[in-house]
Amino acid sequence: MKTLDQIAAELQGYDPQAMTADGVNDFLSRLVKPVQEILELPLFETLGRVLAADVISPFDVPPHDNSAMDGFAFAGAQLAPDAALELQVVGTALAGKAWQGSVEPGQCVKIMTGAVMPAGLDTVVPQEFVQLRQVGDIESITIPPGLLRAGDNRRLRGEDLMQGKAALRKGELLTPARLGLSASLGLEKLKTWRPLRIAYFSTGNEILSLGEAPREGAVYDSNRYTIFGLLSRLGCQVIDMGVVRDDPALLEEAFNEAANQADAIITSGGVSVGEADYTKAMMKKLGDVAFWRIAMRPGRPMAVGRISSMKSAYSAYSAGEDSYENHSHQEGAVMFGLPGNPVAVMVTFLAFVRPALLQMMGANAEPAPLLKARSSEAIRKKPGRTEYQRCCVSTAPDGSLQVKTTGSQGSGVLRSMAEANGLIVLNHGQGNVAVGDEVDVMMFDGAI
Ligand code: AMP
Ligand code: MG
Repeated sequence: MKTLDQIAAELQGYDPQAMTADGVNDFLSRLVKPVQEILELPLFETLGRVLAADVISPFDVPPHDNSAMDGFAFAGAQLAPDAALELQVVGTALAGKAWQGSVEPGQCVKIMTGAVMPAGLDTVVPQEFVQLRQVGDIESITIPPGLLRAGDNRRLRGEDLMQGKAALRKGELLTPARLGLSASLGLEKLKTWRPLRIAYFSTGNEILSLGEAPREGAVYDSNRYTIFGLLSRLGCQVIDMGVVRDDPALLEEAFNEAANQADAIITSGGVSVGEADYTKAMMKKLGDVAFWRIAMRPGRPMAVGRISSMKSAYSAYSAGEDSYENHSHQEGAVMFGLPGNPVAVMVTFLAFVRPALLQMMGANAEPAPLLKARSSEAIRKKPGRTEYQRCCVSTAPDGSLQVKTTGSQGSGVLRSMAEANGLIVLNHGQGNVAVGDEVDVMMFDGAI
């Protein structure tokens, strides 16, 4: 496991005082590692988990050539470009009940969607294109010329999935469609990486827990609730550690307890310049931690690193590995020390923590692509930092996407986050935005 110094040495021009948003993600991707424990779970318990092994199709899907339409199946070689084709109906193939008889030239079989194609037949004419005629006991149809080509309206065996081939890949997030696909292969269980355990707490003497009486200068803790929600959406197991006062003994206890139980720790508050330095001092004391100033808005200060776990250090020691000292920075939990401002917490989570956690979850998911939308207002923006503006994306009368900000973008204004359906991402080099300019948007849907 690399120390922060080792990671810093791999990066060109690393400067903790002038991190770019891209630089932060690059650093974090080198810091975190995927969990390696596999859980084999019943399908209903796998939603949102990450596959720990390819899912191999045990058979062809569909298992037989079958009809894509309700209609009449026949041998397509009989179709002529300029002559109608007349066929006598000799039987019926139902979904779940194949037609077993033979079919001669000039004959066809009435067939339902999903029914197995009778032997030798490769084409289906949909029922709405033909008229059924009955003369005595004999039913027949006429297919007009130029309507069909051989092979039309037939689904091929193995068209969805081929036996022995990967239907799903290791590292894929299990979505509703992927659950259904696994079920269609008859699989009752899937191998998944175990969920992450994430501990979080808020810091600050002015932060009130719910239920406490309001007092002058104090604010209710909202960060634990947004972090809880964001983590839950990611399928993490959460360990809520409450509000921790700016007190060295309490902070040390909280960090130790968190590092002993969790894969990662998320704190909020106490990392900005001019804070009573207890939080920062304790992070330094207990771990390998860097304090960054990120060229972004909102969310400038952030601390990251690893907090050692007394338990893992102790068990390594008792297992005879190295020394306690050598080990103390090698194990433990990844730490994300987020700023205190409620909007900054959510933005830094979405921009940095979420991609890092997905990597820890073993997910190979690419970040969702940013959308392009036309700004319905002018936005002031200084080049040299990345800005995330809370916004509402909607469809313009001409069908294109338009976007406007939610107004005041103060980093404490959580209302702006609650009203938004996404974030305008104004990249590092970008300047002012004029009305009608296209901007990048990160949609919340799927992430929040
Ligand atoms: P800090 O980063 O600790 O200086 O906090 C920046 C601002 O965010 C201050 O106005 C804090 O009161 C506020 N803040 C910090 N933590 C929380 C929290 N858990 N919930 C709501 N506001 C907070
Ligand atoms: Mg504070």
